Amino acid sequence: MPEPVAWHDDGTASGSPYSPRFGDRYRSELGGLTQARDVFLQGCGLPEAWASQPQWCILETGFGLGLNFLLTWQAWKADPLRPRLLHFVATEAFPASADDVLRAARAHPELQVFAEQLHRQLWGLLPGLHRLVFEDGRLLLTLCIGDTREMLRQQSFEADSVYLDGFSPQCNPDMWNLPLCKAVARCCRRGTRIATWTVARSVRDALTQCGFTVRKCPGSPPKRDRLEGQFDPAWEPKKARRAPAGALPARCVVIGAGLAGAAAAASLARRGWDVVVLDAAAAPGSGASGLPAGVLAPHVSPDDSALSRLSRSGVRATLQQADALLTAGHDWSPSGVLERCLDHPRRLPAAWQHLDADAARDWVRPANPEQLALCGLTASDEALWHAKGGWIQPASLVRAWLAAPGVQWRGLAIVHRLARREGVWHALDVSGRALACGELVILAAGHASRRLAESAEASASEPFAAGTATRIHSQLALQAVRGQVTWAPLEADQARQLPPFPVNGHGSFVAGLPLPGGPPGQLAWLTGSTFERGNESLEARPGENLHNLERLRTLLPDVARRLADDESPTAPNLVRGWAGVRCATPSRLPALGSLSPMNAPCAHALGSVWVFSGLGSRGLTFAALCAELLAARLHAEPLPISLRLADALLPAFAAEPAADAQQPASQAAQDSDL
Ligand code: SAM
Repeated sequence: MPEPVAWHDDGTASGSPYSPRFGDRYRSELGGLTQARDVFLQGCGLPEAWASQPQWCILETGFGLGLNFLLTWQAWKADPLRPRLLHFVATEAFPASADDVLRAARAHPELQVFAEQLHRQLWGLLPGLHRLVFEDGRLLLTLCIGDTREMLRQQSFEADSVYLDGFSPQCNPDMWNLPLCKAVARCCRRGTRIATWTVARSVRDALTQCGFTVRKCPGSPPKRDRLEGQFDPAWEPKKARRAPAGALPARCVVIGAGLAGAAAAASLARRGWDVVVLDAAAAPGSGASGLPAGVLAPHVSPDDSALSRLSRSGVRATLQQADALLTAGHDWSPSGVLERCLDHPRRLPAAWQHLDADAARDWVRPANPEQLALCGLTASDEALWHAKGGWIQPASLVRAWLAAPGVQWRGLAIVHRLARREGVWHALDVSGRALACGELVILAAGHASRRLAESAEASASEPFAAGTATRIHSQLALQAVRGQVTWAPLEADQARQLPPFPVNGHGSFVAGLPLPGGPPGQLAWLTGSTFERGNESLEARPGENLHNLERLRTLLPDVARRLADDESPTAPNLVRGWAGVRCATPSRLPALGSLSPMNAPCAHALGSVWVFSGLGSRGLTFAALCAELLAARLHAEPLPISLRLADALLPAFAAEPAADAQQPASQAAQDSDL
């Protein structure tokens, strides 16, 4: 159950929200809007303070019913001098339901349009970080579900403004004590402005002790005072989290126009970079991202492993992008996914039993008899239902990302090596001709990224004594993994007899796909994929089609039988194969980070070469999320996932099997997008 909110009649359209847990009102007697405007925005000098800044970051303690967020959104949208990107990071230990958030805004018709968009994204709020995306990715809400102190510990960012909120210090002391103020101060830079509605002595003292200068200001009646202040400690703040050198938007060369490269290009272009994407192929998404359709569903494990947590954040990010950029029913379908539990029962994390069950059920729940029946399965067959899943044609997403303003795509551009000349990286072809140049390079060329990293390392270390290079490329343990899917065309009336959503759990099956490049209305079914490490062959093999069909007989016996009986039989000579080569890491997590070797003389130069590869068979799950992670790390923005999880993707760590992500290859295949 989400946090219960009691609605007291106060003559407004919604009523006045009240917390039975804390015995206090969510908003002041005046209604929240005046407080939000006078105490928080004005107290932090907004909107003037953010005028013409490239980015701005607000931290709020106690997201509550989101009123401060909605008003800030409205102010940002109305401001012609608004920052290009607005980050709003909010903590909330006891999330209210999406419906209560919507109801709270009902009294303010001017906020309705924003409240409805927020309402649509408030689902699946399990403990941890959730990145919600609005306004084409320019307004980023990072909701941190958990105790404020604990949540702030999991991150590393600098807020420009702080809204210090919470129930009254008497009812909710944890939100105002010294440890909380310390946790907030850790997220501030010198000059960060802070605002709150309480002027309680204990709060002023705690803030002062943590390096804030605070002053009482006239409040909105009936409140006599409000508090505003600034982080200006007498000491030098411990961690200066400045953006690394080179992070000011300039020119960026992305090598590889698959899901990873295209997503990174779009995320960087949104932040003002001029991006050129180079690829050896004639069309974008020609590598593993050319898969006719992939299945999007989160990974589930009893211990809620790093892979599971990352996959949920990834699925959310991809759904947001697909929803914004693609046409449902044509390029993708948010149909949900049924996962059969054939080899062993899929146990959900034990910790979820003690949580808001709705948040967990938004993600995954046991499949119901109707869903099973649509797959020709019986109520005794064990399966999970991933409501937030579906299928996507990866190449459609790639094309949409490459079409973003600020991104230029160039095909038939084979990058042979990288060379650094006068502080700029050049992508050179085999004859030494520069194909593109930039201050930043993103290697998103699958396992070819390793060779390019080696060339960058050699070039960066040239001015230094021989042998000073730190062999960073040896950390790029990228491995080719061949996969073949099997497919055949399908008539619309045949499609109606097949599951209307993807099924996975022993390979996967998707029916009713529009045939990419086929005549309008022509559908197809698809099953697979094989999973073969260390093989780079793109040849489709009849034997692997047989293997896929054999697995389909185990996954969905009824469907396999029906296809065999139909006019589009599964006879080996009539089905077709499509093969691609994915790139994976030993950790099964993507590799994402700069090549900068610590303490090496060429560290500065290599700090502007980033690797973004090893998405394995989960490109659809990881690309959108990790592209935002890359951009956030580069610009020292709040991260979309916890710092610990983000660090697990650093190339050096991705080279090791993740302690909590090890599974046999057979299961890796079972868990894949394919
Ligand atoms: N800022 C909100 C708005 O604009 O609607 C109103 C905030 S309400 C007064 C205070 C919020 O703090 C509640 O939603 C409560 O659940 C949350 N809260 C209380 N203790 C907390 C804690 N230790 N960590 C995080 N959130 C907490």
